[in-house]
Amino acid sequence: MDFPSAASARPQDMVDPFGRDITYLRVSVTDRCDFRCVYCMSENMTFLPKKDVLTLEELDRLCSAFVAKGVRKLRLTGGEPLVRRNILSLFAALSRHLETGDLDELTLTTNGSQLPKYAAELYRRGVRRINVSLDTLDAEKFRAITRWGEIDQVLAGLEAAERAGLKIKINTVALKDVNQAEIEDMIRWAHGRGFDMTLIETMPLGDIDADRVDQYLPLSRVRAELVDRFTLEDIPYKTGGPARYVSVKETGGRLGFITPLTHNFCESCNRVRVTCTGTLFMCLGQEDAADLRAPLRASEGNELLYAAIDEAISRKPKGHDFVIDRRNRRPAVGRHMSVTGG
Ligand code: SAM
Repeated sequence: MDFPSAASARPQDMVDPFGRDITYLRVSVTDRCDFRCVYCMSENMTFLPKKDVLTLEELDRLCSAFVAKGVRKLRLTGGEPLVRRNILSLFAALSRHLETGDLDELTLTTNGSQLPKYAAELYRRGVRRINVSLDTLDAEKFRAITRWGEIDQVLAGLEAAERAGLKIKINTVALKDVNQAEIEDMIRWAHGRGFDMTLIETMPLGDIDADRVDQYLPLSRVRAELVDRFTLEDIPYKTGGPARYVSVKETGGRLGFITPLTHNFCESCNRVRVTCTGTLFMCLGQEDAADLRAPLRASEGNELLYAAIDEAISRKPKGHDFVIDRRNRRPAVGRHMSVTGG
C-alpha cells in the first residue's frame, strides 16, 4: 500500500474558543463491528455503503493532517477497528509519526476479539497500550450483552496482548442489574493481572432496542458502594483522556471513572473525533459536525483541509449535556457510539 508523505509546511495548532488545546484525535475507522452490544447498537444496524468510507490512504492523510496541526495522541476505534480489512497497514503508516516524535501515542480501543491474530503485529507497529472493552467475566452474561460475542475469544485476545508486551486497560460500562454486582470482582481480576481498569457511564447516544433508563447506573453510586470494600485514593494520574483515577489500596491497581453524566468533564476536553466518512465531531454529545471528506478529496494539498479543520475547531462547543431519566428517554444525539467512536 502506498501512503503519501505528510504535508510540508507546519500549519497552526488547534486551540478552541475556550482556550483548550486540541491534542487528541479519535478516529472511527469503520462503523462495522463483530459484536452488537445492547447499549451501543440495535441488533439490526444499517451500515455505511463502502463508497462513503474513506480509504486507508485517505485516513492516513487525514490523521497526518491532524498530527501536523498539533495532535499528540491518536486512537483508532470504531465500530471494531480490527475488523477493517488491512487495518495494520494504517497502523504501520501512522507509526512514522511516532518515529519522528510528532506523535506521543498511537493506540486503539478494541473489543479484543481479533487480538489473538493482531496483538504482536500491533506492538511491532508502535502500539504500546490498548483499551479493551469488557463488561463482564461471566460467559453467559457476556453473550447477552454483546449478543454475538464469545468471552473465550476476548480472554485469548488479552493473553495474546500480554504476551506481545502491550499494556492493557479494561473499559467497563456500568450497567444497572447487569454487571453492577460484579464490578468488585472485575476490579480484583483486572488488577490481579496487572491491568488498569476504567468504569464508564452509559451515554444516551443513538437508538437502541432497550430503554437506557433501565441500563443507566450512575458511577457516583458505584463509587459509594466500592468504598465499603476498598480504600480509594484520588491520584493525579492522567492518560490524556477523560478518566479520573484512584488507586485501590487493597489491589495496588488503578481505577478510572468516566462520568459524562454525573460529573461533566468538558472543561478539560482536548479531544475531537472523526468518523470513517471523514466527518469531524467537535463534541461526542452534540450534533454539530464538519465534513472533511470533501476538502480532503478536492485537492492533493492540505490547505483546504486545514482551513476546514480550523473553521470547525472555532465552533467546538463548551460541552455536552447528557441526561438519562424517565422524562428524557430520547438519545441526546441520534448517532451511535459506533459511528463516532469510543
Ligand atoms: N469495538 C471497540 C470496543 O468495543 O472497544 C471500539 C468501539 S466501542 C463503540 C468503544 C467503547 O464505547 C466501548 O468501550 C463501548 O463499551 C463504549 N460504548 C458504546 N456505546 C456506549 C454508550 N452508549 N455509552 C457509553 N459507552 C459506550
